[in-house]
Amino acid sequence: MGSIVDLPQIIGDRLDRLRETLLLRDGIFIGGEWTSGSSNERLDVLNPSTGQIIASVACATDVDAHRAIVVANDVMREWSARTATERADVLMRWYQLLLDNVDDLATILTAEQGKPLSEAKGEIAYSAAFVRWYAEEARRSYGDVIPTNRAGRRLFALRQPVGVVAAISPWNFPALMIARKVAPALAAGCGVVLKPPSEAPLSALALAELGHRAGLPPGIFNVVHGQPEIVGPVLTSSPLVRMLTFTGSTEIGKLLMAQSSTTVKRLALELGGNAPFIVFDDADIEMAVRGAIEAKFRNAGQTCVCANRLIVHSSVREEFVSQFVSAVGKLKVGDGFDPDVTIGPLIDEAAVAKVERHLHDATSQGATIAHGGHRHSLGGTYFEPTVLVGVKSSMDVTREETFGPVAPVLDFETEEEALALANSTESGLAAYFYTRDVGRVFRVGEALEFGVVGVNTGAISYEGAPFGGVKESGLGREGSRHGLDEFTELKYLCVDGI
Ligand code: NAP
Repeated sequence: MGSIVDLPQIIGDRLDRLRETLLLRDGIFIGGEWTSGSSNERLDVLNPSTGQIIASVACATDVDAHRAIVVANDVMREWSARTATERADVLMRWYQLLLDNVDDLATILTAEQGKPLSEAKGEIAYSAAFVRWYAEEARRSYGDVIPTNRAGRRLFALRQPVGVVAAISPWNFPALMIARKVAPALAAGCGVVLKPPSEAPLSALALAELGHRAGLPPGIFNVVHGQPEIVGPVLTSSPLVRMLTFTGSTEIGKLLMAQSSTTVKRLALELGGNAPFIVFDDADIEMAVRGAIEAKFRNAGQTCVCANRLIVHSSVREEFVSQFVSAVGKLKVGDGFDPDVTIGPLIDEAAVAKVERHLHDATSQGATIAHGGHRHSLGGTYFEPTVLVGVKSSMDVTREETFGPVAPVLDFETEEEALALANSTESGLAAYFYTRDVGRVFRVGEALEFGVVGVNTGAISYEGAPFGGVKESGLGREGSRHGLDEFTELKYLCVDGI
């Protein structure tokens, strides 16, 4: 099967502006070939900005998923036997192709996910940066030479690829969440079978197409789009799959963790967050407002590191809220292809329903809306960026991840109180705080029970830094040299008789 470029429904829905139409794929990708799989089932992909169907993508069956695993396992022998430099060269070509095609890839991403085109371009550039980082790190995957415990004996710890990796990714970053799993896995010498999100699989398919063109050996990176209840159990139960790397909700992460226990797989889980954003009384308020806008409203509030609770010292609350509401008022909601738009639609109706439930729960317990609070007049799944004040820690909006454009503001009086509020969650992904007191930077930075902490910034992402959660936000790290180690096993080699 080829591509979907001749389907009439995509014309007029922005995908007609693609320079390289063959990046649009509607098949599953196994062994370096596009196929419709062993059933005729397909799933529609909608543009959340318009509600239009933009593609209909083939679904893998359990037979297809199993075939992809076997192929990845076979091809891995040859790929892992190559030198690190040879693997790095292929990854560098993939990196370059991602950059060369950034406009098309961003167009596909915005069409299937809804985020503003400028954010989509940023996501593609950041995805490429991960591929480059791991192309470089492939050549620095060192083991250890261990001082011997006996004459005539030498001891080593070798890093070897963990084996076939199953990757499952979410819709909120349809390209990035794949790049930061697949690039290190391939750099380490592993084969990969990816299940992309049903809501936004087209970016994954375009990435696979470019990886193929870059010279990845056929079968080393396979994409099995399909029903999660069919593909998921094959990936988690296969003894050939030695590792599962998953990004998504904590609920599904726990399910996959349980399923993987029968074959004792290595797990890397990037799960949900509930990020506190603390503004101390000595903070630079203007800077805190800029950071809060970035940390709260990027991707319409649909990121795992989104500020979910703004915890503001009572003495600066009025000033902060006034400046924050004014900045929120300048955000523009609309179709991501409109160059002025800063907030796209939510992914689907269920996402809007969750936002409405949180607002209803908060206002019925006494919180008040300082800005927004309603579905946007554009209709569909557009929602007004919203600021809630008078929020209490008993409200759902602070206890659950809203995953939408709602900023709840809570008050505090003391540093201890702010820390207690911030840490009172089973999640532990990202946290932010603003202060100019250097002692507090370390006291609070060390006391926050989160894997990633931003001080005086709302934008912490960098491919060279370790990213991941504690508590129920997950296991393992993505990015940095640690992100490569996740895909390797340490083998102890004891050589005697020298
Ligand atoms: P989700 O519902 O957990 O889905 C994530 C992926 O898991 C999708 O590919 C989904 O497939 C698949 N899936 C769902 N049920 C499955 C099953 N029974 N077996 C196998 N796979 C299954 O999460 P989401 O709504 O897409 O993403 C939002 C969540 O991801 C939020 O909680 C967010 O915080 C979290 N997230 C975390 C990070 C991080 O780095 N920690 C980054 C981004 C997002 P379908 O799409 O086909 O259902």
